[in-house]
Amino acid sequence: MIASVIVDVAARQTDRMFDYLVPNELADTIVPGVRVHVPFANRNVQGFVMKLHNEPQIAIEKLKPISDQLDLTPPVTEELLLLSEAIKEETLSYHISVLKAMLPAAMRASYDKELYLEEEDPELTGLFVDGVIASWNEFTKQAPENDIQLITRHIRKGTIRVSPIVTTKDARKKQLQVTYVQEPDLTQFSQAKKQLLLSEYLLTCEIGTSFTLKGLAEEANVTTAVINQLVDKGVLKKDYATVGRDPYAGRTFKSSVPMALTEEQQESIRPIEEAFQTNKHETFLLHGVTGSGKTEIYLQSIEQVLDKGKEAIVLVPEISLTPQMVTRFKSRFGSRVAVLHSALSKGEKYDEWRKIREGKVDVVVGARSAVFAPFTNLGIIIIDEEHEMSYKQEEAPRYHARDVAIKRASYYNCPVILGSATPSLESFARAKKGVYTLLSMQERVNQTAMPPVHVIDMREELQNGNRSMFSTSVLEAMQDRLAKKEQMVLLLNRRGYSTFIMCRDCGYVAECPHCDISLTYHRNDQSLQCHYCGHRETIPTVCPSCQSDSIRFFGTGTQKVEQELAKELPDARVIRMDVDTTRRKGSHEKLLQSFEKGEADILLGTQMIAKGLDFPNITLVGVLAADSMLHLPDFRSAERSFQLLTQVAGRAGRHDKQGEVFVQTYTPDHYSVQDVKTHNFLSFYEKEMKMRQLAGYPPYYFLAVVHVSHADLNKAVEVTTNIASYLRRSLSDSAKIYGPSASPIPRIKDRYRYQCMIKYKIEPNLHHVLQELIESYQKEIMKTDLQLHVDTNPYMM
Ligand code: ADP
Ligand code: ZN
Ligand code: ZN
Repeated sequence: MIASVIVDVAARQTDRMFDYLVPNELADTIVPGVRVHVPFANRNVQGFVMKLHNEPQIAIEKLKPISDQLDLTPPVTEELLLLSEAIKEETLSYHISVLKAMLPAAMRASYDKELYLEEEDPELTGLFVDGVIASWNEFTKQAPENDIQLITRHIRKGTIRVSPIVTTKDARKKQLQVTYVQEPDLTQFSQAKKQLLLSEYLLTCEIGTSFTLKGLAEEANVTTAVINQLVDKGVLKKDYATVGRDPYAGRTFKSSVPMALTEEQQESIRPIEEAFQTNKHETFLLHGVTGSGKTEIYLQSIEQVLDKGKEAIVLVPEISLTPQMVTRFKSRFGSRVAVLHSALSKGEKYDEWRKIREGKVDVVVGARSAVFAPFTNLGIIIIDEEHEMSYKQEEAPRYHARDVAIKRASYYNCPVILGSATPSLESFARAKKGVYTLLSMQERVNQTAMPPVHVIDMREELQNGNRSMFSTSVLEAMQDRLAKKEQMVLLLNRRGYSTFIMCRDCGYVAECPHCDISLTYHRNDQSLQCHYCGHRETIPTVCPSCQSDSIRFFGTGTQKVEQELAKELPDARVIRMDVDTTRRKGSHEKLLQSFEKGEADILLGTQMIAKGLDFPNITLVGVLAADSMLHLPDFRSAERSFQLLTQVAGRAGRHDKQGEVFVQTYTPDHYSVQDVKTHNFLSFYEKEMKMRQLAGYPPYYFLAVVHVSHADLNKAVEVTTNIASYLRRSLSDSAKIYGPSASPIPRIKDRYRYQCMIKYKIEPNLHHVLQELIESYQKEIMKTDLQLHVDTNPYMM
């Protein structure tokens, strides 16, 4: 039997299947989808068995055997294997990168070297056990410097042989335990009081009971040394037990029951139910204003799916995987829910993933990569906040979770729900065309009106002599809420609006020496930092350019707002939530809990506070610099701005108390601001669609971008120029090629970045042309500093 294997080597010439012999001892267990170790170019690498057959590509004597099989149950199911091929094609990725993206990081291979002692040498006594130092990585971590030098010398001399190995540590947590295996003979211990004490305790337990060392020591009131003595006598046995890591262990979730649906909700859920009950693949775009009860629709749809013994995937954006969202699913479905997001450790993620693969759960709530959850009987896939950019992966494989979800659902003949208060233009356009089914909910469940939105022209404030970052009306409103003991949310969108340092005399701005971007001021450690490469330097006291001492901070960061608040509203208790305050695991959750308990009056933060919060006492939402997003070099900037403002406005007055929203801006007349004011998505959609049509952007045109980067500027320009002319030659006249042009950030980490953009409507040849392009540069990519990749659905421009 022969196995076709995709090997873990990312290069064009390895992006095909290689044949290996299946050794007899593995013949019964090898199936498509399992991970294996195979010899490849003088070493062992991890690989995935794609199929079994008996028609070798080359002479059978030349085939090498598979060296090891890693799984009994294939982690990549039959359906996911097929899917991986489709994604590879569509995103122009290496097959191996797609397969790896489907699995938790803990299951990926790590490559190491093993050291073998070829001949005895007195210098090396004690370093090798049975002639092997198992792992070079481990050794270098622990050994003193001179041992490493010694070994290196012997490697050169040939006394030590180095051999590359592949290891895969599926990170299941093992815990040392002792098991009670045999009744003690008490007469043996008449002289040993402590051992007698432990023996007597054990006699009260059943044979086969396991304890942790510490637990037994405490219960029997002995030291662990005594336990070890009984291990030696054969009464107890030491072994390792696998323990599941449950990130939500010890947390209880109040159970919730389905609510009686409102009329709007009933009308929306009916077609979804029908699709599900008749095994029909259909994609629904659930356009519902914030607070219209979309989540309840998700919950009740899932309930039907579970009743039929099928499974559900719920995707939520990473930042809205707030405890609130998780709680709502755990409360309804309890331990049937697995949760997957980036705040979990590698091990926790792996354990959650195993629960899914082993069929111990039937719902998964997770961020983007949870779309690959290895269920085998899917009944529904839900994507909440479907417009979120985080559903697009920005590194290889550059897939969009929405596309993957729809593919999987079509395989299982089941519905997909895309939910949002502000759908992406792409999805809404598809719904209008009838490709998706549009479901619309325009009222809030509790019938409260959408909060009034006041647009404040900050230019006028300035003319009236107000130089503060708060307009007069926001400040008054905040004072009012403070007096009423109501809560407030203040959003400061930091993207493109961070604090930078500028010289007032000569205009010098502190920039990163490696990237074309200004450095950001960090107050905590009084440093300037680059958010792209991590470069850090101290704050200059005089201008490096003109020696003036008028060097100052500009722009507004959350820390600065916090200081201002302390001045303007000294009694207000403020919780600040941004990357700096939420770095530690669980801190996001803690801050929110504290706000929910009313321990603060104001929640101040970046985008991460805009979503998912559902707190009854929030009656004021303030957006401090609404237009900061409008000026990004991205054709989606108006759309993103509208989405963010609508989302954050939706945090106000969700329950009984009426809310109010203040939007401070320098461009009050822009349609993205005006349509937020009237809560009018349709109006925004119409205007933005016109803009896209005029400018030739999605959803009217498709885009593809070829990205090139090189440490040598001339080389980067040269390659991109050649690519542009190749594309012009190879594609039809209806495809428009733009470039070569510098990327929006022309240099990152000392690499120059150039790009070519393709706009097209129908271009059947495109994939082929792009594939050829990548292939023709393969050698240069392998051998030189050149980097090149293609994004067939670009988001970050
Ligand atoms: P969305 O996801 O559309 O923003 P939610 O699902 O969060 O809206 O619903 C808003 C609020 O209304 C939540 O507190 C939710 O518990 C409540 N809710 C939803 N549906 C109903 C219903 N049918 N009856 C009563 N309350 C409901
Ligand atoms: Zn930098
Ligand atoms: Zn200066």
